[in-house]
Amino acid sequence: MMRSLKLRKGSYRTVPGKYYGSPKEVWGFRTDPDRRAPRKIAEDFLKENHKLFKLEKNLDTLHFRKTIRSLGAHHVIFQQRWRKLWIHRAYVTVHLGNEGSVYMAKNRAMPKKLLDKSKDVRFCVDVSAARVRAIKAIRDEERSLPKRRTERRRRMEKRLFPLKKKILPAYRFRFYLKNPREERIIYIKASDREPRLLQDYDNLAHLDAPARVFDPNPVATLGDHRLLVTAGKKKHPKLPPPDAYRDVTLTGLRKPGYLQGPYVKINWRVKRNKNEFCFKSNQRGFKDVMAYYHIDTVVRYLEELGFRVRALFRKPLEVNAYGSPKDNSWYSSGLWLLTFGYGGVDDAEDGEMILHEFGHALQDAICPDFGQSREAAAMGEGFGDYLAASFFAHKKVAEYRTSLMSWDAIASDKHNPPRVRRVDEDRTYRRFRDRANYEHTNGQIWSATLWDIWETLGREKADTLIIESHFQLDAFTTFDRGARAILDADQNLYGGRYRRRLLHIFRDRRIGPLTRRH
Ligand SMILES: [Zn+2]
Repeated sequence: MMRSLKLRKGSYRTVPGKYYGSPKEVWGFRTDPDRRAPRKIAEDFLKENHKLFKLEKNLDTLHFRKTIRSLGAHHVIFQQRWRKLWIHRAYVTVHLGNEGSVYMAKNRAMPKKLLDKSKDVRFCVDVSAARVRAIKAIRDEERSLPKRRTERRRRMEKRLFPLKKKILPAYRFRFYLKNPREERIIYIKASDREPRLLQDYDNLAHLDAPARVFDPNPVATLGDHRLLVTAGKKKHPKLPPPDAYRDVTLTGLRKPGYLQGPYVKINWRVKRNKNEFCFKSNQRGFKDVMAYYHIDTVVRYLEELGFRVRALFRKPLEVNAYGSPKDNSWYSSGLWLLTFGYGGVDDAEDGEMILHEFGHALQDAICPDFGQSREAAAMGEGFGDYLAASFFAHKKVAEYRTSLMSWDAIASDKHNPPRVRRVDEDRTYRRFRDRANYEHTNGQIWSATLWDIWETLGREKADTLIIESHFQLDAFTTFDRGARAILDADQNLYGGRYRRRLLHIFRDRRIGPLTRRH
């Protein structure tokens, strides 16, 4: 049976576009499950809603590029093509859950009406003149560089370039440069007599490098904390053995040898002559690699969930992995900086500590200066712990799953397993203490509540709902409003499918007046 994929008025939300009169994004809905191929569903979805997106009825100008699979979703990507030329940036993407329900679509296609108005897309400038202009853009910049750069290869392609409501013929040149390494993409306008620069950007974000990390920490990887601590009364951490490490690939590096990427920037110490980052934990640089790897990896996961972290982070988050001799780490909102202490086990040797601090930065990026009331501060601590627990749960044996930062706590905590905190404490809101310096203890009420959601809905749904809920919170929020925001997120994303289960969780944790009715 074919169900309609047409969106009814009022059943979805939009992000309006600037020039086209069509929405840039449509979200807050979920179509019925559908077992057909994602591409087929996506095409039908666009056809049935072509008026909303201002596309032509039969999608003549849209060409299928690829389907990307993330953990819980398929992302079907189309690009617009007109008069046999690709239109720059004109992507349309349809996002479907694994069960085939469309839940979001993004649209940068130029409406057919506007295309028809742009009759004249002739290439008046010839390609050699355009190339000279493109090379000039690079040369002008080279003058300010200490070392001269060498141009290696280049490629040219004809494209259409949208500029506000118009479309322009353009040559696209791609240059591969060294010192520093860049992949420059330059668009030259070809409709006038003179070649003119339309756009010039560095596209290089794909430099990878081998590295060695704890993922998240040696206790989780070895599955037994007793192997990592000396016997006797006064315990000391041992240097972890080789099998406590994992070989990974760092992605997104801008320059070979530097730990700087689109989301994280490590300004201290690490500069390798080779593009390789394999250290032992007692070597300089190891903690920088840990911070880079774990933050870059969690951001990429969040982007896969659909959150546009790149837009939230105006610039890469800075990290000082050796920032304090104390056993303490913090996030500075004003400096957009994470600082890790090296008292006891160095904090940045534990991936869960890194994720906790990153949680503060993420909240602050979504709601500026989050945590300015006692309840909001506790929610900040609880969220950081939740994020660390959720992100690494599948890498830990069950016994360690809800104990956090076991490596950081290995010599100082007497519990079994050792931990800084747990996310499954038996605490309810009745135990909330309205006192200063109590945010970590109070935070365990919130992290346990979030963990209940994780246990009930699974990682991806829980993460999505919890992060989505932050967008409607503010710096002075409360547990009650936090709970309500999660319910709203469930309504927006999943049509309220989990409302009853969520209400049950909040009621059991004694959170919010909204649950007292039940
Ligand atoms: Zn914290």
